[in-house]
Amino acid sequence: MQFNSNFNDIAENYLFAEVAKRAAEYSKNHPDKKVLKLGIGDVTLPLVPEVINALHAGVEDMSKAETFKGYGPYEGYGFLRESILDYYKSCGVELALDEIFVSDGAKSDLGNILDIFSKDNTVLVPDPVYPVYVDTNLMAGRKIIFANANGANGFLPMPDYKVNADIIYICSPNNPTGAAYTKAQLKEWVEYANKKNAVILYDAAYECFIEDENLARSVYQIEGAKTCAIEFCSFSKIAGFTGTRCGYTIVPKTLEKDGFSANKMWLRRQATKFNGVPYIVQKGAAAVFTEQGRKEINQNIAYYKNNAKIIAECMDELGIWYTGGKNSPYIWLKCPNNMKSWEFFDFLLNNAQVVGTPGAGFGSNGEGYFRLTAFGSEAVTREAVARIKSVLKK
Ligand code: PLP
Repeated sequence: MQFNSNFNDIAENYLFAEVAKRAAEYSKNHPDKKVLKLGIGDVTLPLVPEVINALHAGVEDMSKAETFKGYGPYEGYGFLRESILDYYKSCGVELALDEIFVSDGAKSDLGNILDIFSKDNTVLVPDPVYPVYVDTNLMAGRKIIFANANGANGFLPMPDYKVNADIIYICSPNNPTGAAYTKAQLKEWVEYANKKNAVILYDAAYECFIEDENLARSVYQIEGAKTCAIEFCSFSKIAGFTGTRCGYTIVPKTLEKDGFSANKMWLRRQATKFNGVPYIVQKGAAAVFTEQGRKEINQNIAYYKNNAKIIAECMDELGIWYTGGKNSPYIWLKCPNNMKSWEFFDFLLNNAQVVGTPGAGFGSNGEGYFRLTAFGSEAVTREAVARIKSVLKK
């Protein structure tokens, strides 16, 4: 027996562990000080009543022989896929029902999708970005190249025709930078992918935060995307399903090459390795799309957006450069006084008792930057912002 030695290539996952360790140490040494956390990307508001009611109804269904559900369809129940189809229609995107696959969250499918691609593909990943793209490919032994995201390009790298990539990751709005591609910018990526015979793995986990009309909510709003892109989305951020677990993946039937169909391969893959998302959870997820459900989740999204605005206004006032804050729950800021990411982390913790996430943990281009999230409570956000102002105001 031999273990997968590719695991040697993966960095220790120390970012959030180190953040938690430093915060815990500080609290232990300063029990009188209240530490405010704007670090993690998890939501804090509970599930909305419409979802809770649907979850209860799902439990009831499971209690009666007539409505009990055993194994469900690998690709998800029709009622939920219909709702997702209608949601896309409302964004001007026409999909077929069998292009929609329900999952237990975007993270799983972002990793699992690699099963349908050859190990020999070259992978292009933006730096900095959500670390899952890098680690899943390293585990499989694929070659990774990076697209430089930086202050100069507003953390939105554009295609470079000198670079030959086969699998391209795009996360928009981006975690951690909060930067989001316009439809015009995304069109350039779609053209590049089609010309290079590459696939775009498009992570739309934060699409619900988009408010500007010129930004894309779905890659399929761009002409030509259905021959080159797979889209991953999630109920985690739109409806607080981080613990409940549900998402979906769109695999167009027109994504084909050399006699292979991505859609057929993905269905085959799912039928082999996945037995579906719990019926009860899918009932809850479908409630997100009812009129009442939408009304309720929109209130939650507005709440987080207001937090983002509070943080962004603080940066404006302090004259600190940042991306995100609008169309995203993340504010990605340039550390003041040329501090490095961890230096600024310690500065904020020690002087303002505020915890954020050092940008260096998301890739080498993240050095010197810092991420704050809008997923906390409004009271905590306001207090954190007041403290940040008091320690940084000249
Ligand atoms: N994609 C991005 C960019 C994320 O930031 C996250 C979670 O933070 C996910 C995917 C994971 O989503 P899910 O909870 O659906 O697995």
